[in-house]
Amino acid sequence: MKIVEIRTHILAAPLAVPFAFSQGWVRTRAAMITEVVTDEGIVGWGEALCQGLQPPEIAAATVEYALKPLVIGKDPLDVEVLWDIMYNQTKDYGQKGAVIGAISSIDVALWDIIGKYHNLPVYKVMGGAHRTNVKAYATGFYRRGEESELRSAWIEEAKAHIDAGFMGMKLKIGLGVKEDIKNVGAVREAIGPDYQIMVDANHGYNLCDAKKLGLALESYDISWFEEPIAPEDIGGYRELRQAISIPLACGENEFTRIGFKDWFVARAVDIIQPNTCQSGGFTECRRISAMASAWGVSYNPHCWGTGIGLAAALHMLAIIPPNPISIYPNEPMLEFDRSAHPFRNELITKPFKAKDGYVAVPEGPGLGIEINREVLQKYRIN
Ligand code: CA
Repeated sequence: MKIVEIRTHILAAPLAVPFAFSQGWVRTRAAMITEVVTDEGIVGWGEALCQGLQPPEIAAATVEYALKPLVIGKDPLDVEVLWDIMYNQTKDYGQKGAVIGAISSIDVALWDIIGKYHNLPVYKVMGGAHRTNVKAYATGFYRRGEESELRSAWIEEAKAHIDAGFMGMKLKIGLGVKEDIKNVGAVREAIGPDYQIMVDANHGYNLCDAKKLGLALESYDISWFEEPIAPEDIGGYRELRQAISIPLACGENEFTRIGFKDWFVARAVDIIQPNTCQSGGFTECRRISAMASAWGVSYNPHCWGTGIGLAAALHMLAIIPPNPISIYPNEPMLEFDRSAHPFRNELITKPFKAKDGYVAVPEGPGLGIEINREVLQKYRIN
């Protein structure tokens, strides 16, 4: 089998109601979708994560100009060899960021092809599932309107997630230490002790404020404190981890096993959150998962893309071992983005739904999804 064509699809749509997180206002949702075509007629799909403020064109240009020439004509079944070639040939200007996102998009598409070639779901080709039904938590709680209305809006949103069956939810903090304490406290009080609450500052704090906030939030039973400080400050995380009892999470802005190695060695974090469509694809995320298990660190994938990214996260979630394995294991969870996105669900013919707080891993060949080409055309901007 040979790769004969790679197409990039840059999708974007303005949001009817923009929303804010600690780094700015999101006014458009965008995606960079990669389509890999083989001479046997098998087509694979991948996606490069677009963070809230990230232009999708960077990853698309990387695929078009840097990666395509390296993989056209090659056998998709040689996926690990192709990963090494893509990583090493872009190392002098890559290693992190959108370049690794671009590599991830091709890698995910190659695994989709491999699954389809063997007529098996990706998780099965990768060695089998620890679970085929994944507990999901709701991501949302962005700021939309006036700050004064935020608390009541959050309480309403929390109740909507509970009504939809979710047992856990992640609050977007980073709006100021005092505000965050009041807002998190109000949600905990409104929903009671039975639901999981995570908090995510999107690195909106310095170490002093993160310590102050972390200590104040300890009484609210917080499952993890995500990206409290700058994602490159490993020493800061290590110090914070020793100062507060809430587990620390990060990794949506870290890349490859080489990047994650330093976090494990420094014992700086409790939970890593690589994004399968950003941190290196299935090939590299499996290696990161193996390292996490060796260091006793939990792995909860970050997920904030289209249905393709969601499918990739679910196959990855199927193969991550619990940390540790036991009769009542602490299972990894799916981040289920419930924020506004005009084409997240439409892009695949059968959108993912949470049922009683769980999402089933797709069972069809490859990623187990089908792309709606009309939607691809409708939102395409390149
Ligand atoms: Ca996050």
